[in-house]
Amino acid sequence: MRVWSIAQRWHKVPKMQKFRYGVIAASCIAFLGPLAFLPQLVGNEDLCGVLCMRRFYLYFPGMSFEDLWMHVSVAWIGVIAFFTIITVTFFFGRLWCSFLCPVGGLSELVSRALGERWKIDFRFLPQVPIRYGYLATYMVLLPMLGVSACTLCNFVTVPRLVTAVTGGAAGLAFLFSTIGLVNLAMLLLLGFFSAKGRAYCQFMCPIGALDALVNRLGAKFRFTYHIRVERSRCTGCNECAKACMCGAIKMVDRIAVVDQTSCMSCHDCVDSCEWHAIEWTPGPRNKTPKRLKKGVQIYPEPQWQAFAPAMGEGIPWPRIVNALIVATASAFVLYTSYTAWIAH
Ligand code: SF4
Ligand code: SF4
Ligand code: SF4
Ligand code: SF4
Repeated sequence: MRVWSIAQRWHKVPKMQKFRYGVIAASCIAFLGPLAFLPQLVGNEDLCGVLCMRRFYLYFPGMSFEDLWMHVSVAWIGVIAFFTIITVTFFFGRLWCSFLCPVGGLSELVSRALGERWKIDFRFLPQVPIRYGYLATYMVLLPMLGVSACTLCNFVTVPRLVTAVTGGAAGLAFLFSTIGLVNLAMLLLLGFFSAKGRAYCQFMCPIGALDALVNRLGAKFRFTYHIRVERSRCTGCNECAKACMCGAIKMVDRIAVVDQTSCMSCHDCVDSCEWHAIEWTPGPRNKTPKRLKKGVQIYPEPQWQAFAPAMGEGIPWPRIVNALIVATASAFVLYTSYTAWIAH
């Protein structure tokens, strides 16, 4: 019955999304589990060590340039991969996160296969303040307290879970450790059993948080490819917002507004819009819509715009809390760097 319901849902999936799921599945085979042949090319079994894209930008009290260089040289492939990802994001949007990342991708595939009934929808939460508050905590405050970046890391949890499922002893040993169980619980709650499977990506992944800032920056330039809205075509029907796996679209005055700091460039909104009002596009482009909005002229060259939401009204408490966390972290970095320099 379950297989039949999955087959029915698969039939309705737009072609672009089928292609995206296929690429994610290929990426999971290449990076995870018993095959994991891409990590093996560089002598790794999973995404840790030389492939780690997360540790090298962490600050540790008293850290010197030699320490930074040591972190970079230990994970040099991860460093190159990270800068390649953010360069691609600047020009083309977050293609790594939506099409390639086996960690967020596997979580999404499992979540979508499970159906919606038992899942929690986290997309209504204020994800930008939570994400960047956590990022500042992750990059500075946790290392200050001596907590390692490896403690909460989906880049080790997902590969080891796949290893465990395929009978690998290392995976089973990890999952039955205290840290493994905590990480597994996070993966289930914010991944497999969250609506559309991307809550961990949206709130807790440091790579995603930094990538999202670059996405927003890139969207300011007209020559780059990002998700843009043509206001004159938008009917405010909300279909794109319902489809969005990241909760990145809000209706403002019945016009879709894309938050570029949350958009993952998955194209789901593009597939769901019958009016061709939202596109992954670099700039003005003429395209005949499938339907015409009553009383609105379709201009020969629509002005595609990458809107970002305006500040809400009232006191922006999440931003104030974030600013305090960032200010505390920055003061700590400056103070400890200064004392380490004096002692040197
Ligand atoms: S556990 Fe995560 S943060 Fe730690 S080395 Fe592995 S990938 Fe990097
Ligand atoms: S946010 Fe992190 S876990 Fe999610 S897809 Fe991007 S890199 Fe992967
Ligand atoms: S962009 Fe398209 S799907 Fe989204 S609200 Fe506008 S018309 Fe509807
Ligand atoms: S705004 Fe569109 S492209 Fe961006 S995450 Fe949402 S559905 Fe995907």
